Amino acid sequence: MTIYQNLIAGEWTGAEAVENINPSDTKEVVGLYASGSAADTRNAIAAAKAAFPAWSRSGIWERHVILKKAGDEIMARKDELGALLAREEGKTLPEAIGETIRASQIFEFFAGEALRLAGEVVPSVRPNIGVEITREPLGVIGIITPWNFPIAIPAWKIAPALCYGNTIVFKPAELVPGCSWAIVDIFNRAGLPKGVLNLVMGKGSIVGQTMLDSPDLAGITFTGSVGTGKRVAVSSIEHNRKIQLEMGGKNPMVVLDDADLSVAVEAAANSAFFSTGQRCTASSRLIVTEGIHDRFVAAMTEKLKTLNVDHALKTGTHIGPVVDERQLKTDTDYIEIGKKEGAKLAFGGELISRDTPGFYLQPTLFTEATNQMRISREEIFGPVASVIRVKDYEEALAVANDTPFGLSSGIATTSLKHATHFKRNAEAGMVMVNLPTAGVDFHVPFGGRKGSSYGSREQGKYAAEFFTTVKTAYTLA
Ligand code: ADP
Repeated sequence: MTIYQNLIAGEWTGAEAVENINPSDTKEVVGLYASGSAADTRNAIAAAKAAFPAWSRSGIWERHVILKKAGDEIMARKDELGALLAREEGKTLPEAIGETIRASQIFEFFAGEALRLAGEVVPSVRPNIGVEITREPLGVIGIITPWNFPIAIPAWKIAPALCYGNTIVFKPAELVPGCSWAIVDIFNRAGLPKGVLNLVMGKGSIVGQTMLDSPDLAGITFTGSVGTGKRVAVSSIEHNRKIQLEMGGKNPMVVLDDADLSVAVEAAANSAFFSTGQRCTASSRLIVTEGIHDRFVAAMTEKLKTLNVDHALKTGTHIGPVVDERQLKTDTDYIEIGKKEGAKLAFGGELISRDTPGFYLQPTLFTEATNQMRISREEIFGPVASVIRVKDYEEALAVANDTPFGLSSGIATTSLKHATHFKRNAEAGMVMVNLPTAGVDFHVPFGGRKGSSYGSREQGKYAAEFFTTVKTAYTLA
């Protein structure tokens, strides 16, 4: 079998490889992907450092052309790359193709942003002096990504990094190297100079840790678990390095008595269970006022009966498998914890067997949960949600905000008063009214508050905040 290698200083390299396994069918090896060493990582950092002076001064047209070429190729290959994504991660083919299209749109967006780079010219408070404010690239950026969005998250970090003139060392998650390899291959063929984008696949404890220990990374943008995010933060203080962290969520979806029931059920089922619940914006706490509670639970249960869990590539599959055995164990452990804590298992909770051996778990709904239970406080990252019954809007808002996280927060209501109040008072980076907590646009800021995020926002023009550094220049006229 061919080994998909790492790209370091423009050369494909690496003989040590690991199997990329399909979670829908564990007999299928998607491919053999290189597993880099600490030395590979140091070489990649050195290559990115050497490439920085020229790339940071490259013309904006060159950056535009390369980003656009990459976006165009991803769009042209959306079905093939979508299938690769579905095979390595397990989300359904329509979800995977949708994510691939999203990656293309992100590259197209930043191809445009490259042409819109601008600064400010302002008068000085002193006479005969002019002041210019410009944005300059930061330097070498370390990009560390998780497994749940194998093409979109790399895209939304690589695109702005290149757009604003930075060079990159990119380490994707071990479970899903395929889409990352494909993106890097596309850029390599699109004419990106050697060393500007280096790919080092491999273990977090080796490749990732070597990146954290390096004094040569000017910034690290990370999406992953809270624990690893903290390591990124601590190491970065030592190296005086800029960081952008996206970590967990425990996102609430409030359902009020006056909600349109079908809108509420669609939003909640999508938020909690699509993409197998493996989204940091998934809603796992469904906070429902008592007047609609029983109708909502009944309608959700009916809805869950209609969702097929099966092979990601099969037509008619609504929910693919859990990503791997470790995550499946986490999910089933939390289901046991929920039962022991006294929540009522209203639907699901069982493993399912299908034609192919995979990590299939029923969508699982708890009711009679409280906000103090571990299943309500800790991120599970699987197809597991709980309904928390509350008296009224005021209690719903208080429960929604009573969490260590603050990524996305949703409400289903037909009341303008409550929707407006919720938008103003939800302690989250993103608020959704009558929409799922997951599912965001690519041209506007993405990110959260409290334990969910650290540093400035990702995506849209707000991405410039992280990927550039501001210079203020004074000139005597
Ligand atoms: P998860 O538990 O969801 O896999 P992680 O935070 O472990 O979340 O993984 C997110 C990314 O961080 C992955 O690319 C992983 O390899 C990487 N990673 C894991 N450990 C470290 C580490 N010590 N240093 C840097 N990166 C790491």
